[in-house]
Amino acid sequence: MQALHWRERIFALRREILSERTFSIIKPDAVRKGHTAAILAQIEEAGFKIVAIKRTSISKVQAEGFYAVHAGKPFFAGLTEFMSSGPIFPMVLEKENAIADLRKLMGATNPAQAEEGTIRWKYAESIGENAIHGSDGEETATFEIGYFFAGIELK
Ligand code: GDP
Repeated sequence: MQALHWRERIFALRREILSERTFSIIKPDAVRKGHTAAILAQIEEAGFKIVAIKRTSISKVQAEGFYAVHAGKPFFAGLTEFMSSGPIFPMVLEKENAIADLRKLMGATNPAQAEEGTIRWKYAESIGENAIHGSDGEETATFEIGYFFAGIELK
């Protein structure tokens, strides 16, 4: 009994030490087509804890702020137009290796190159309208989480 108790505490501590947070958005195309619940189910089945989530929408200026690293690229206007075109579900996800594992689960930016079974393979229709966003690194994740969520919402 006592041994089990300690083992559980060690596992909980390990989970806490190794856990990482990432940021994701279910994009307007996937929300419009009614894929939100299926995408959330796939994320949870892959072992992610949904720490925070909300349904919201952003203005073009807010989308430009979010995607500032892409300013000046040929797809920037289309991307920010699209991201402000309807409701989205921004969310904070947690698990060990969350950043890299979510990128794997999402699949390649261009769905034509996405691995079978990935979220983009299933639900994205083009490189521009590709169903889901996921942070590409630790610094990006910190910036992106703070862009959409206040500290008090993240417990
Ligand atoms: P991600 O991290 O896989 O989302 O890809 P990036 O960070 O490189 O790009 C951000 C988003 O911009 C992508 O998810 C696409 O929606 C869009 N995007 C990137 N490259 C292109 C492109 O060549 N053409 C168009 N139309 N959109 C693009």
